[in-house]
Amino acid sequence: MARTNKKVANISRKELLKPVKRAVVKVGSGVLTAKNGLNMAVIEDLATDICALRKKGFQIILVSSGAIASGLKKIGLSKRPQSVSQQQAVAAVGQSSLMMAYEKAFGHHGQKVAQILTTRDDLTHRRRYLNARNTLFTLLSWKIIPIINENDTVVVEEIKFGDNDNLSAMVTNLSESDLLINLTNIDGLFDKDPRAHKDAKLIRVVERFNRKVTRSASSIPGFLGRGGMASKIKAAEKVALAGVPTIIANGLKPRILKRIFTGKEEGTLFLPQEMTLCSRKHWIAFTKSPKGEIIIQSRQFRGADQ
Ligand code: GLU
Repeated sequence: MARTNKKVANISRKELLKPVKRAVVKVGSGVLTAKNGLNMAVIEDLATDICALRKKGFQIILVSSGAIASGLKKIGLSKRPQSVSQQQAVAAVGQSSLMMAYEKAFGHHGQKVAQILTTRDDLTHRRRYLNARNTLFTLLSWKIIPIINENDTVVVEEIKFGDNDNLSAMVTNLSESDLLINLTNIDGLFDKDPRAHKDAKLIRVVERFNRKVTRSASSIPGFLGRGGMASKIKAAEKVALAGVPTIIANGLKPRILKRIFTGKEEGTLFLPQEMTLCSRKHWIAFTKSPKGEIIIQSRQFRGADQ
């Protein structure tokens, strides 16, 4: 069982974030889309903060959802279609709008961006995984902001990341980032769904990934994207096991990234765990899909069977 790293349990956020040089920022569909399409005000705000951080020497990798949500709005559909091929077509329509929006927003700051579309299959083969890593590091060394999404248009169920929360955890490990920021459309992890309960309390710090945390998270479903709070907690746990903290915060709050990086108490902070896995073991545990199964049959059961 992993334990909270005692060295970080009692220090301030500012202190905890001091060693951060490289961070993954995941932005959900509910943050990026408004009533009539992409939420340009939010995208401009994120671009402003990311460019300011880059100028200060931080390396930021963006994991962006929003392809399907923006595709739906562009086509004029009120909900996700049922068939896989239609969903994939919607993603293809939306992904280009999404990148165009980022190009425009980052372009206002003279900042170049790059699109990376990936599948779980790409990252389960060690060579392809290392190749993706080299590409990412090359972009960062060229001071270009990588913008990553799942390649929804070609991906099939068996090789899906499932949701971009999971993808962002894998990218955090792949890129050896020091922090994962998961921006969603509520303030963080609450003890119950704040959209249904007025007395819901925001949990400021999570030290352990126990049942209480899982229970709070599973009561908060997502609306637009695939993952609700539960998948965000799973992602936070995965990176915590690699010794990396996560902050889940409200991406609709203006200047949210600036506020987080200046040590403001935004959202919920998930502390890194003490028993951490090295990068290769982390990849085996969380990126590769299990093949085969182990069946353990107790002696007592075997006896009854014979
Ligand atoms: N890749 C999906 C999209 O861009 C989002 C998946 C998710 O919301 O987790 O629409």
